[in-house]
Order: sequence, then C-alpha cells, then structure tokens
Amino acid sequence: KRNVLIIGAGGVAHVAAHKCAQNNKLLGDIHIASRTLAKCQAIIDSIHEKGSLQSPGRLQAHQLDAMDIEATKFLIRATHSQIVINVGSPFLNMSVLAACIETGAAYLDTAIHEDPAKVCEAPPWYGNYEWKRRQACKDARVTAVLGAGFDPGVVNAYARFALDTYFDDVESIDIIDINAGNHGRYFATNFDPEINFREFTSTVWSWEQNQWRANSMFERRQDWNMPVTGMSTTYLTGHDELHSMSQNLGVPNIRFWMSFSEHYINVFTVLNSLGLLSEKPVRTAKGVEIVPLEVVKAVLPDPASLAPAYTGKTCIGDLIRGTRGGQAQQVLIYNSCDHEECFEEVGSQAISYTAGVPAVAAAMLIAKGSWDIGEMANVEELDPVPFIESMNRMGLVTRIQDAHGDRILRPRQESI
Ligand code: NDP
Repeated sequence: KRNVLIIGAGGVAHVAAHKCAQNNKLLGDIHIASRTLAKCQAIIDSIHEKGSLQSPGRLQAHQLDAMDIEATKFLIRATHSQIVINVGSPFLNMSVLAACIETGAAYLDTAIHEDPAKVCEAPPWYGNYEWKRRQACKDARVTAVLGAGFDPGVVNAYARFALDTYFDDVESIDIIDINAGNHGRYFATNFDPEINFREFTSTVWSWEQNQWRANSMFERRQDWNMPVTGMSTTYLTGHDELHSMSQNLGVPNIRFWMSFSEHYINVFTVLNSLGLLSEKPVRTAKGVEIVPLEVVKAVLPDPASLAPAYTGKTCIGDLIRGTRGGQAQQVLIYNSCDHEECFEEVGSQAISYTAGVPAVAAAMLIAKGSWDIGEMANVEELDPVPFIESMNRMGLVTRIQDAHGDRILRPRQESI
C-alpha cells in the first residue's frame, strides 16, 4: 500500500508528516489535510527546512473539513491515498473511518472518538463508537488500526509483548506516564486544552478485579521510582487504552497513572472550581454568550509554541506484575524521550513526538503488509514485535527493566 493522507495539522500531525517524509520510499506521496490550509503548508515548509524527505517525492497540502464524509472520500480518491493517518481532533474519527470504509483505504488513529456534546460516557468507550463499525470494516476488507499513538498505542503493544513473552499469568498492568519536562510557562497544556481538560474533568475509569471502577480525578496518588525521571508522583487518570485492553487481554487489573505537578493541580483546581473549564455557555452582563472553556483555551499558550523552549524528558511505560513457573515476576517496559532532541530532529516537543512516531510505524507495517489485516483491530491484538522493532529504528527506543537489569528491548532476542 502506498500514498498517505494525514488528517489534521496539529502537533502530532507535524511529527507524523516528518516521519512519513523520512520514509517516503515506502510510503509514497504524502498529503496533509486540515481545516486550516496554512497549517498544512507550514508543516510542508518545515519538512523542507529540516531536509526530512528520504527521496524526492510529492508533499501536498489540502483544505478539508473532515466531518464531511463525501469531501474526505473525494480527497482520498483524488490523491490515490491507500493509508489515512487520522491525527485530527478525536471528534473526527467516525466520519474519517466512514470515508475509509467507503473508499477501501486503510485507517489509523491515535485516540477514541469523542462526541463534543457528551462529557462522560459508559465504558468501554470503543463500544460506543468505533467497534460498531467492526463488521463494516470486515465486509469491506478495510484495515483499521485503532489507537496507534504512544498511549494508547505503544503501551498496548508493550502489554501484549509482555504477556506473550514473560508471564504465565498477569495480575496487573500499571501504565505510567511521566512528563518531567519543563516548558517554562506559568501554565499550559501539552495538547489541545479542550481535549486535555475533558480527560481530567470526567469520571476516572479504572479496570480493577475484572470490572470498571469509577474514581474522581486526583483521588488516588501513587509515587513511582522510574528510570530516567526518578521518583515521580502520579495520579490515577482515565485513559483510552483501558477501554480496549480490559476487553482484549484477560488481565484483572489495568490502571493508568499520569504525572502532575502540585502547581498544575492547583491551577487546574481553581479553574475547574470556578467553572472556567465548563463547555456550557454563560451570558455576560452585556448579554454576550461565551463558553468558559473556549476563553481559557484562547488565553493559554498554543501547545505547539511550547516546543522551542521545552527541556527535560518523558518516561512512559507498563509495569507488569504476575507469575511465571510459579514465581512472582515483574517487568517494566518503557521509553524515555528528550524534549530538546525531538525539537532538534523535527521541531516538536516529546509529547507530540511519542504519539506521531508510532502512528507512522503502524502505517509502515500496513504498507509492508504485516499489519494489513483487512479488518479492525486495537494495537494489542496485533503482533507487537515488528512494531517495537520499527520504533527502535525510528527514534523511539524501547527499554526493559527486569530481574536481569535495564537494557534496550530487542524483541526477537528475548526468550519466550
Ligand atoms: P491539535 O489540536 O494540535 O490538532 C488537531 C488538528 O485537527 C488541527 O490541525 C485541526 O485543524 C484539525 N481539525 C479539527 N477539526 C477538523 C475538521 N473538522 N476537519 C479537518 N481538520 C480538523 O491536536 P494534536 O496534534 O495534539 O493531537 C491530535 C490527535 O492525537 C488527537 O486526537 C489527540 O487526542 C491524539 N493524541 C494521542 C496521543 C497518544 O499518545 N495516543 C498523544 C497526544 C495526542 P485547525 O488547526 O485548522 O483547527
């Protein structure tokens, strides 16, 4: 499969486009489509500036409202795109997926579909949207890889690999997401504030003792001694991957923990308590209707603008506990990424980098055929070996910490 259409022109799309360019011998023409044409063109300019193209090839920007299924189908056909990387907002998933099913293009994304009008939905969230199109993908023989960023995405593959390789029985998977970076601003979100805050204002679902447990944000705290970032404070957070891993892996406890500084929690709590994170419109004394969250978004820094000054590292991974041969066993599979190195390579911060690289690694596996399965799958249902190997070569190196120490994970050399 060749020719890629990237939907969206935000932080993740920027990285995905650079990585497609670095691999354009395999992927062919690269098209970038988003609401704002100038943002697509800016990405293309930065690819030329960084000299990211592997070989001379076509790079083209397009204006598109991806909520418009017919327009999206037209663009897929006009560009002869056989793979669509959807890294626009999560509100677009179902329309882009429909366009892929109707044109036969392979689909991949990095987040679960969201309905802007619904804040808290019943788990598993994939069941409310994407999985309803599973049969349609099968009938059309369309490959759809869901959640192929870092988390969801790489952490799902880490879990699959650990289950296949190191355990007879797994008791728990704790996904730990640490950003120990510093952007130097008073307060900012690493990606779209609207999407970011939605993650923290709704019910925090965790999978415990084989059932869903509802928690509230900042209710459960856990400190972890992580490689690279050291002692790190996290809070139980709701996250996309729990909604497929809980259904696909047969593991009784799966939790997601994200790092937050005291400062972030204080500012977030004030904004939230005042109602400034609300999506419900309010009327001012002058009779003007405003959405508080939109105002907050307008005054916060644009997440993409944080990249040049961002320093420090991320460390994201799966801590897996279980047994093998009757013995208790624990492994941590993780990646650490440096904000400054990401900026140097592609002009982005590490949060966008860790999401964009896996999406392109997945697209390359679809192009080569090993992930071109002709149906819908979440990442943990696919072979993790070529995925982890590709990322090791593409700038996202996987490491493992277990009883034998800490080393780069080379999946084909691990004992089974
Ligand atoms: P941004 O908000 O930076 O970018 C979103 C892009 O989508 C923008 O360019 C926007 O266009 C475009 N867009 C929105 N609506 C439409 C539309 N109707 N038609 C066409 N384009 C549209 O997001 P990020 O790059 O930070 O994130 C992209 C995706 O990746 C999100 O779904 C996010 O949840 C996910 N993500 C996943 C991670 C993972 O590890 N799995 C980590 C980080 C993010 P415009 O700018 O013109 O408004």
